[in-house]
Amino acid sequence: MVTKDNFNEILDFANLFKDLDVDYCQYKPEVIQVERNSSDNKKDQIPPEFWAKKIIKLLDDASQILGNKFQCNSYKLKDLIVHKNKMYGREYKQCLGSQFQPCVGADGEVYVCTSHRGHKERSYGNLKDKNFSKIWADMNKRKCVMSQIENTEKFSKCSQLCKPHESNKVLWNIKKNLHKPELINDLKIKSKKIEEKIIHKSFI
Ligand code: SF4
Repeated sequence: MVTKDNFNEILDFANLFKDLDVDYCQYKPEVIQVERNSSDNKKDQIPPEFWAKKIIKLLDDASQILGNKFQCNSYKLKDLIVHKNKMYGREYKQCLGSQFQPCVGADGEVYVCTSHRGHKERSYGNLKDKNFSKIWADMNKRKCVMSQIENTEKFSKCSQLCKPHESNKVLWNIKKNLHKPELINDLKIKSKKIEEKIIHKSFI
Protein backbone atom coordinates (compact mmCIF):
# COMPACT_ATOMS: atom_id res chain seq x y z
CA MET A 1 0.00 0.00 0.00
CA VAL A 2 1.60 3.25 -1.12
CA THR A 3 0.78 6.20 1.15
CA LYS A 4 2.17 9.64 1.86
CA ASP A 5 3.99 8.12 4.85
CA ASN A 6 5.84 5.34 3.07
CA PHE A 7 6.31 6.34 -0.59
CA ASN A 8 10.01 7.00 0.01
CA GLU A 9 10.41 3.25 0.51
CA ILE A 10 9.06 2.23 -2.92
CA LEU A 11 12.54 1.50 -4.27
CA ASP A 12 13.73 -0.09 -1.01
CA PHE A 13 10.82 -2.53 -1.32
CA ALA A 14 11.77 -3.35 -4.91
CA ASN A 15 15.45 -3.84 -4.07
CA LEU A 16 14.60 -6.01 -1.08
CA PHE A 17 12.37 -8.39 -3.03
CA LYS A 18 14.04 -8.49 -6.43
CA ASP A 19 16.25 -11.48 -5.59
CA LEU A 20 13.87 -13.25 -3.22
CA ASP A 21 11.87 -16.27 -4.33
CA VAL A 22 8.47 -14.57 -4.57
CA ASP A 23 6.07 -14.60 -7.53
CA TYR A 24 5.21 -10.91 -7.50
CA CYS A 25 5.43 -7.62 -5.59
CA GLN A 26 2.34 -5.48 -5.79
CA TYR A 27 1.99 -1.74 -5.24
CA LYS A 28 -1.47 -0.28 -4.50
CA PRO A 29 -2.25 3.41 -4.02
CA GLU A 30 -4.01 4.33 -0.79
CA VAL A 31 -7.70 5.05 -1.33
CA ILE A 32 -9.59 6.69 1.53
CA GLN A 33 -12.74 4.76 2.35
CA VAL A 34 -16.04 6.33 3.38
CA GLU A 35 -16.10 4.52 6.76
CA ARG A 36 -12.96 6.33 7.83
CA ASN A 37 -14.49 9.66 6.93
CA SER A 38 -17.23 9.24 9.50
CA SER A 39 -14.70 8.94 12.32
CA ASP A 40 -12.94 11.69 14.25
CA ASN A 41 -9.80 11.10 12.17
CA LYS A 42 -11.43 12.34 8.97
CA LYS A 43 -9.04 12.06 6.02
CA ASP A 44 -9.23 13.46 2.52
CA GLN A 45 -8.26 11.64 -0.63
CA ILE A 46 -4.56 12.17 -1.43
CA PRO A 47 -4.44 14.88 -4.14
CA PRO A 48 -3.74 13.91 -7.78
CA GLU A 49 -0.49 15.92 -7.89
CA PHE A 50 1.05 13.59 -5.33
CA TRP A 51 0.45 10.52 -7.52
CA ALA A 52 1.37 12.24 -10.76
CA LYS A 53 4.49 14.06 -9.59
CA LYS A 54 5.92 11.85 -6.87
CA ILE A 55 4.76 8.30 -7.46
CA ILE A 56 4.66 7.52 -11.19
CA LYS A 57 8.43 7.92 -11.67
CA LEU A 58 9.22 5.86 -8.57
CA LEU A 59 6.92 3.07 -9.77
CA ASP A 60 8.58 3.13 -13.20
CA ASP A 61 11.94 2.68 -11.49
CA ALA A 62 10.55 -0.10 -9.29
CA SER A 63 9.24 -1.81 -12.42
CA GLN A 64 12.75 -1.75 -13.93
CA ILE A 65 14.20 -3.29 -10.77
CA LEU A 66 11.55 -5.99 -10.31
CA GLY A 67 10.95 -6.95 -13.95
CA ASN A 68 8.24 -9.63 -14.24
CA LYS A 69 7.63 -9.56 -10.50
CA PHE A 70 6.32 -5.98 -10.64
CA GLN A 71 2.58 -5.52 -10.23
CA CYS A 72 0.62 -2.31 -9.73
CA ASN A 73 -3.06 -1.35 -9.61
CA SER A 74 -2.43 1.21 -12.31
CA TYR A 75 -6.15 1.57 -13.09
CA LYS A 76 -6.65 3.01 -9.58
CA LEU A 77 -3.70 5.34 -10.01
CA LYS A 78 -5.19 6.57 -13.27
CA ASP A 79 -8.50 7.41 -11.58
CA LEU A 80 -6.72 9.11 -8.69
CA ILE A 81 -4.79 11.31 -11.11
CA VAL A 82 -7.56 12.06 -13.63
CA HIS A 83 -10.11 12.73 -10.92
CA LYS A 84 -12.33 15.20 -12.89
CA ASN A 85 -14.59 17.01 -10.38
CA LYS A 86 -13.72 14.39 -7.76
CA MET A 87 -15.53 11.76 -9.84
CA TYR A 88 -12.45 9.48 -9.96
CA GLY A 89 -13.72 7.68 -13.06
CA ARG A 90 -17.26 7.25 -11.74
CA GLU A 91 -19.15 8.09 -14.89
CA TYR A 92 -21.57 5.20 -14.59
CA LYS A 93 -25.16 5.93 -13.58
CA GLN A 94 -25.87 2.54 -12.08
CA CYS A 95 -23.87 0.41 -9.67
CA LEU A 96 -24.26 -2.89 -11.53
CA GLY A 97 -21.10 -4.46 -10.09
CA SER A 98 -22.52 -4.58 -6.57
CA GLN A 99 -25.27 -6.88 -7.84
CA PHE A 100 -22.60 -9.55 -8.33
CA GLN A 101 -20.75 -9.05 -5.04
CA PRO A 102 -22.88 -8.03 -2.05
CA CYS A 103 -21.41 -8.01 1.46
CA VAL A 104 -22.68 -10.11 4.35
CA GLY A 105 -21.89 -8.37 7.63
CA ALA A 106 -21.08 -9.99 10.95
CA ASP A 107 -24.51 -8.71 12.06
CA GLY A 108 -26.22 -10.90 9.42
CA GLU A 109 -27.24 -7.99 7.20
CA VAL A 110 -26.79 -8.42 3.44
CA TYR A 111 -25.34 -5.06 2.49
CA VAL A 112 -25.03 -3.55 -0.99
CA CYS A 113 -21.25 -3.56 -0.72
CA THR A 114 -18.37 -3.46 1.75
CA SER A 115 -18.28 0.34 1.70
CA HIS A 116 -21.83 0.57 3.03
CA ARG A 117 -21.64 -2.20 5.61
CA GLY A 118 -22.89 -1.13 9.01
CA HIS A 119 -25.53 1.16 7.51
CA LYS A 120 -28.89 -0.62 7.88
CA GLU A 121 -30.57 1.46 5.17
CA ARG A 122 -28.09 -0.13 2.71
CA SER A 123 -29.14 -3.67 3.63
CA TYR A 124 -31.43 -5.90 1.55
CA GLY A 125 -32.37 -7.94 4.61
CA ASN A 126 -30.98 -9.94 7.51
CA LEU A 127 -30.01 -13.61 7.41
CA LYS A 128 -31.50 -14.05 10.87
CA ASP A 129 -34.95 -13.32 9.35
CA LYS A 130 -34.71 -14.91 5.88
CA ASN A 131 -32.24 -17.08 4.00
CA PHE A 132 -29.98 -15.51 1.37
CA SER A 133 -32.01 -16.81 -1.61
CA LYS A 134 -35.15 -15.13 -0.34
CA ILE A 135 -33.39 -11.87 0.42
CA TRP A 136 -31.73 -11.86 -3.00
CA ALA A 137 -34.97 -12.70 -4.83
CA ASP A 138 -36.70 -9.63 -3.38
CA MET A 139 -36.16 -7.39 -6.38
CA ASN A 140 -38.39 -4.61 -5.05
CA LYS A 141 -36.22 -4.20 -1.97
CA ARG A 142 -33.01 -4.35 -4.00
CA LYS A 143 -34.31 -1.79 -6.50
CA CYS A 144 -35.45 0.49 -3.68
CA VAL A 145 -32.04 0.44 -1.93
CA MET A 146 -30.16 0.94 -5.19
CA SER A 147 -32.46 3.72 -6.37
CA GLN A 148 -31.67 5.66 -3.21
CA ILE A 149 -27.94 5.37 -3.94
CA GLU A 150 -28.07 5.90 -7.71
CA ASN A 151 -30.95 8.32 -8.25
CA THR A 152 -31.49 10.18 -4.99
CA GLU A 153 -27.98 10.46 -3.59
CA LYS A 154 -26.25 10.07 -6.95
CA PHE A 155 -23.39 8.18 -5.28
CA SER A 156 -22.62 11.12 -2.95
CA LYS A 157 -22.31 8.79 0.06
CA CYS A 158 -20.28 6.16 -1.81
CA SER A 159 -16.58 5.52 -1.36
CA GLN A 160 -14.42 6.78 -4.18
CA LEU A 161 -12.80 3.92 -6.12
CA CYS A 162 -14.82 1.34 -4.21
CA LYS A 163 -14.25 -2.38 -4.69
CA PRO A 164 -16.79 -2.87 -7.53
CA HIS A 165 -15.69 0.40 -9.22
CA GLU A 166 -13.87 -1.35 -12.08
CA SER A 167 -16.67 -3.85 -12.72
CA ASN A 168 -19.14 -0.95 -12.58
CA LYS A 169 -17.26 0.81 -15.37
CA VAL A 170 -17.15 -2.31 -17.54
CA LEU A 171 -20.78 -3.30 -16.93
CA TRP A 172 -22.06 0.22 -17.53
CA ASN A 173 -20.16 0.32 -20.80
CA ILE A 174 -21.71 -3.00 -21.83
CA LYS A 175 -25.19 -1.80 -20.85
CA LYS A 176 -24.80 1.36 -22.91
CA ASN A 177 -23.78 -0.70 -25.94
CA LEU A 178 -26.25 -3.56 -25.70
CA HIS A 179 -27.76 -2.45 -29.01
CA LYS A 180 -24.49 -3.26 -30.82
CA PRO A 181 -24.58 -6.97 -31.77
CA GLU A 182 -20.90 -7.03 -32.81
CA LEU A 183 -19.83 -5.95 -29.32
CA ILE A 184 -22.02 -8.56 -27.65
CA ASN A 185 -20.74 -11.33 -29.94
CA ASP A 186 -17.17 -10.27 -29.25
CA LEU A 187 -17.85 -10.38 -25.49
CA LYS A 188 -19.39 -13.84 -25.76
CA ILE A 189 -16.31 -15.17 -27.57
CA LYS A 190 -13.95 -13.56 -25.05
CA SER A 191 -15.93 -14.85 -22.04
CA LYS A 192 -15.90 -18.39 -23.50
CA LYS A 193 -12.11 -18.24 -23.85
CA ILE A 194 -11.67 -16.89 -20.32
CA GLU A 195 -14.05 -19.49 -18.88
CA GLU A 196 -11.98 -22.30 -20.39
CA LYS A 197 -8.90 -21.05 -18.53
CA ILE A 198 -10.52 -20.68 -15.08
CA ILE A 199 -9.75 -23.67 -12.87
CA HIS A 200 -11.90 -22.76 -9.87
CA LYS A 201 -14.93 -20.96 -11.29
CA SER A 202 -16.53 -20.24 -7.91
CA PHE A 203 -13.35 -18.76 -6.52
CA ILE A 204 -12.49 -15.69 -8.53
S1 SF4 B 1 -19.72 2.33 -2.87
FE1 SF4 B 1 -19.44 1.48 -4.89
S2 SF4 B 1 -20.29 -0.57 -4.78
FE2 SF4 B 1 -21.03 0.56 -3.04
S3 SF4 B 1 -23.00 1.35 -3.74
FE3 SF4 B 1 -21.47 2.94 -4.09
S4 SF4 B 1 -20.83 2.62 -6.20
FE4 SF4 B 1 -21.90 0.79 -5.53
